[in-house]
Amino acid sequence: MNFIKHPENDPQYTGLNVNKGIVQPPVINPYLAGRKKRRDYTPAEYTEEIRKGNITVLSQAVTLLESQKPEHQAVAQEVIEKCLPFSGNSVRIGITGVPGAGKSTSIDAFGMYLIHQRNRKLAVLAIDPSSERSKGSILGDKTRMEELSRDTKAFIRPSPSAGSLGGVARKTRETIILCEAAGFDTIFVETVGVGQSETAVHSMVDFFLLIQLAGTGDELQGIKRGIMEMADGIIVNKADGSNVEKARLAAAQYRNALHLFPLPPSGWAPKVLTYSGYYQLGISEIWDMVDEYITFTRKNGYFDQRRNSQAKYWMYESINEQLKNHFYQSPVIGKELLVKETQVLRSEISSFAAAKQLLDSYFTF
Ligand code: GDP
Repeated sequence: MNFIKHPENDPQYTGLNVNKGIVQPPVINPYLAGRKKRRDYTPAEYTEEIRKGNITVLSQAVTLLESQKPEHQAVAQEVIEKCLPFSGNSVRIGITGVPGAGKSTSIDAFGMYLIHQRNRKLAVLAIDPSSERSKGSILGDKTRMEELSRDTKAFIRPSPSAGSLGGVARKTRETIILCEAAGFDTIFVETVGVGQSETAVHSMVDFFLLIQLAGTGDELQGIKRGIMEMADGIIVNKADGSNVEKARLAAAQYRNALHLFPLPPSGWAPKVLTYSGYYQLGISEIWDMVDEYITFTRKNGYFDQRRNSQAKYWMYESINEQLKNHFYQSPVIGKELLVKETQVLRSEISSFAAAKQLLDSYFTF
């Protein structure tokens, strides 16, 4: 063995000796030997495991559909196709509210209530438009939902972070399909109540819940009219301690404001309730309201009508997105795009002419 011949093992050498070392243990952990890696699954196997409620595989499939790689996308799309017949059997609820309104505290409380009092299986997803810039989403983050994140009947997934709002929203909608196939009967889609992401969430849920606060002095001014118009229920949080009266007052103001809006196409007059997510007060009333809405809209046909028009909306969204991606990823466009952009910036060519020339080269390619 040459370790003995090593110059540092010479008796003259005064530094550290080189030891023989130990025999390497086998590289394969016997406990993991029976487990399959993600790349080993076929779309059919993914589907089978998802259908069995295998959360690890469900997470892997979601990661796959969030991936930018075309080969991952291809597998993910096949899994979605296969899961589609087993989807649709859940109540999908959009939850929005400005930062600090108490979304995470409330979702934690709602989730624990639904799982343990109403025997539901809950998936919490999110659409966070800011994650595109920050490359990380805090919405749907497990650390914000302490109790729920430890509950085996809950599946929590943060917002996909890559791509445009439309792309992020599409991935969340596809994740809904996978979750439903895995047996989740209640889906929350969380978003921040500050921008267009509400429209995206609204286009994939059955019930849209708006969390509001009292006592900020700008109850009615602080929220965009459009968001209020989308809400099927408004819930005023933090109705606890000395804030109870203020919350009641705010609720009355919201009720009055809602009277000014025309009745939504669902035929359901949105309700306003007060509650405390932190102290878990008034929570069962909120879920009675959601159940009442679902029964009401199933009866009058609006539930299916809304889902159908959402399916149509997502068909067009997918077409638009894929066409756009195909255009921007085309090798011809890649080169020409910067040239045209520079020409436009130098006022050598109008934006419309530049767009037309680019589209012409794309279509003739
Ligand atoms: P998010 O930003 O909308 O997710 O809001 P959080 O759930 O993080 O809540 C923001 C702050 O409001 C935290 O300090 C919570 O402890 C507090 N909070 C949330 N719900 C309640 C409630 O029902 N009552 C009271 N008093 N405080 C609450």
